[in-house]
Amino acid sequence: TPVIGVLALQGDVREHLIALAAADAVARPVRRPEELAEVDGLVIPGGESTTISKLAVLFGLMEPLRARVADGMPVYGTCAGLIMLADKILDPRSGQETIGGIDMIVRRNAFGRQNESFEATVEVTGVGPVEGVFIRAPWVESVGAQAEVLAEHGGHIVAVRQGNALATSFHPELTGDHRMHALFVDMVRDAR
Ligand code: GLN
Repeated sequence: TPVIGVLALQGDVREHLIALAAADAVARPVRRPEELAEVDGLVIPGGESTTISKLAVLFGLMEPLRARVADGMPVYGTCAGLIMLADKILDPRSGQETIGGIDMIVRRNAFGRQNESFEATVEVTGVGPVEGVFIRAPWVESVGAQAEVLAEHGGHIVAVRQGNALATSFHPELTGDHRMHALFVDMVRDAR
């Protein structure tokens, strides 16, 4: 059984732990470099990407995270987690860094403030239609040649995979539908 961590600095950690367990993984929170070293894969939750970035630096996790992602550890980011996996943010806050791993440019809060939250059915390549929960969600402006677009909504890219890195603008951990987590657990199994 793969052991999958959830980066537990800020955000909806508990929901991801539950979804991963439902998708037959052993799920654990990760807050320290020693805990990161023990997992086969990692989820980066939704929340606030500037806060997650600053706490990752403060906890000494940013460089270990970059090293493991560069080394091919499977990683899945939702919403703020997607932002953390982008090689470039179009509109970063001051001091905001990313782990990187996916050759893409993201725009934070792209779906707009007045529509802070909405749900829409999103067709995800290899998974099928999923209910996408978008909460002040980013979209992906553009991707590089190595990145595969898995879903779009309203003409904007909302799901991407590059090698062992998976990212969605929306939050499958909030729906009770565990197919995106099952896809990620399969990626972790394949990588071991
Ligand atoms: N708007 C948030 C950010 O920029 C992301 C929101 C979310 O994760 N639901 O980090």
